[in-house]
Amino acid sequence: MTIKVAIAGARGKMGKEAVHTVMENADMELVAALDYKDIGATLAETGLFPESFQVPVFTDLEKLHGQHAPDVLVDLTTPEHVYAHTKQALQLGIRPVVGTTGFSTEELKELTELAKTSALGCIIAPNFAVGAVLMMKFAEQAAKYLPDVEIIEMHHDQKLDAPSGTAMKTAHMMSETRQVHRQGHLDEKETLPGARGADYEGMRIHSVRLPGLVAHQQVLLGGEGQLLTLRHDSFNRGSFMSGVSLSIREVVERKELIYGLEHIIG
Ligand code: NAP
Repeated sequence: MTIKVAIAGARGKMGKEAVHTVMENADMELVAALDYKDIGATLAETGLFPESFQVPVFTDLEKLHGQHAPDVLVDLTTPEHVYAHTKQALQLGIRPVVGTTGFSTEELKELTELAKTSALGCIIAPNFAVGAVLMMKFAEQAAKYLPDVEIIEMHHDQKLDAPSGTAMKTAHMMSETRQVHRQGHLDEKETLPGARGADYEGMRIHSVRLPGLVAHQQVLLGGEGQLLTLRHDSFNRGSFMSGVSLSIREVVERKELIYGLEHIIG
């Protein structure tokens, strides 16, 4: 079976890669792109893609669905729009594969419920890089034995949300095995606000934003006389594409929302 795919955010850094990935997969067909502004009738017309990419562009998901009935909507847009896209896709019977980060806990709860009642697959992956998912799994294992944790996530300076979805997900996974406790000295004082980073159940998260970076994360776990460092680097956006393909193939087999690639790669 050929999986019919639509992509929201096709002009973006991740979206462009995803367009090429879907076009190259023999078991997938890129049927349309979703944008929020008029950028031309086809992807080729944007000037960002080869002339052969005669994929129609829509600004309305309902219209897109009416004309092309995609099985899957891949969303690589912005935290501001992703929730509305995901919700509308589920309501139309399209399975979302979402790489955009920035969902609130309430939004995730609502989408989980919606996917369940519609019996539709929905995959939300804060990180599509398989190596990053393994880092999160190893961090979860280690936090049971080394519960003093600092996470340093580093991204390019155009990223809109902080901390990153990957850092939040890592902290959440570690909280499953780590005993909640306050870290550092009890009388610790910040002489410059924010110096100790964000607080997730006592774990500290630091967000670095610099030009030149792509997506990087270190998890530091300290113990008496020892330090365990887990580190993952995505050097280019190609690192995310095997996870995108995997999610597109997997979402059509599922009937509920899956948050995180770790539930797919086992
Ligand atoms: P980007 O280059 O800014 O791309 C976002 C694109 O979406 C832009 O072309 C933007 O257009 C477009 N857009 C904005 N609102 C839209 C809407 N309502 N409908 C359709 N298109 C819309 O950003 P990026 O680096 O590709 O990242 C995209 C998202 O993926 C971010 O949330 C990022 O954090 C996330 N990300 C996830 C992973 C992962 O592994 N899960 C990896 C990297 C990045 P304009 O610029 O014209 O507004």
